[in-house]
Amino acid sequence: MKRILITGAAGFLGSHLCDRYIKEGYHVIGMDNLITGNISNIEHLFPLKNFEYYHHDVSKFVHVPGKLDYILHFASPASPIDYLKMPIQTLKVGSLGTHNLLGLAKSKGSRILIASTSEVYGDPLVHPQREDYWGNVNPIGPRGVYDEAKRFQEAITMAYHTFHGLETRIVRIFNTYGPRMRVEDGRVLPAFFSQAIRGEGLTVFGEGDQTRAFCYVDDLVEGIHRLLLSDYHLPVNIGNPSEITIMQFASEVLSLVNNPKAHIIYNPLPVDDPKQRQPDISLAKKLLNWEPKVSRAEGLIRTYEYFKKVVSVN
Ligand code: UDP
Repeated sequence: MKRILITGAAGFLGSHLCDRYIKEGYHVIGMDNLITGNISNIEHLFPLKNFEYYHHDVSKFVHVPGKLDYILHFASPASPIDYLKMPIQTLKVGSLGTHNLLGLAKSKGSRILIASTSEVYGDPLVHPQREDYWGNVNPIGPRGVYDEAKRFQEAITMAYHTFHGLETRIVRIFNTYGPRMRVEDGRVLPAFFSQAIRGEGLTVFGEGDQTRAFCYVDDLVEGIHRLLLSDYHLPVNIGNPSEITIMQFASEVLSLVNNPKAHIIYNPLPVDDPKQRQPDISLAKKLLNWEPKVSRAEGLIRTYEYFKKVVSVN
């Protein structure tokens, strides 16, 4: 039986990855320190013999007994308000945490995949973003703690690959959505769904003309799985190229939730908020024969089902 360690296991992406590798028949070891993760995302796995959970901060030395075939490093605060609240932890998990996991991979002979991000492109001057674009990041801005941690993470991962011959994979994840996003995490989709369900103002930042491209979580997990099993060690974008403005996105959520009290309000644009973002996924298509299958219309319906259950209306 293959054994896989997944860090950030109780988070949005980590918990979906745990489910996927349980389905694949692997022995899954989930690790999290729960600073932004939610244990209820993985509680359904606790009764299973092939699932183990370790409460641990990967910025500290990581010990896992037994063999490990694969490591997926997904631990990190991932929403802009989280990394503003936890700048030091964000820097540490991307740097020290990654170093610890690379060391673990080296000692166990594991293949390691690290979760990088479209944030390495910063506020991009090239559109759409291809993997060979180096980015436009403000290292000392409020988002710098996340962006630079992830850029360092890519650099140290490449160094372990070239210097130690470690089997490494790097996925650059673009905006992803689906069930288990934290209601209060501040990202645009949980914000808009919870506001629409409660009949409040949907907080559009700036004029709402900035763009994003949203990928449904199941598509992302499939892309990650294919990348893990591939023999390609350079970064690969995984995301859905269907790009919309934040204002259009607000309108889609408003018409889906259809709450007559919900409306749009305008809040100031956060510092260094990227003006446009869209993945170029030619590489993933060619290399992994992967492209997203779930349309935004379908993905939003599935996600709405989840938020209906978890958003309290009072
Ligand atoms: N945004 C917004 N209202 C919100 C939260 C976010 O208009 O309540 C905007 C934000 O300014 C950004 C986009 O939505 O342009 C996506 O923000 P998110 O925090 O989801 O992720 P990002 O792509 O910026 O990391």
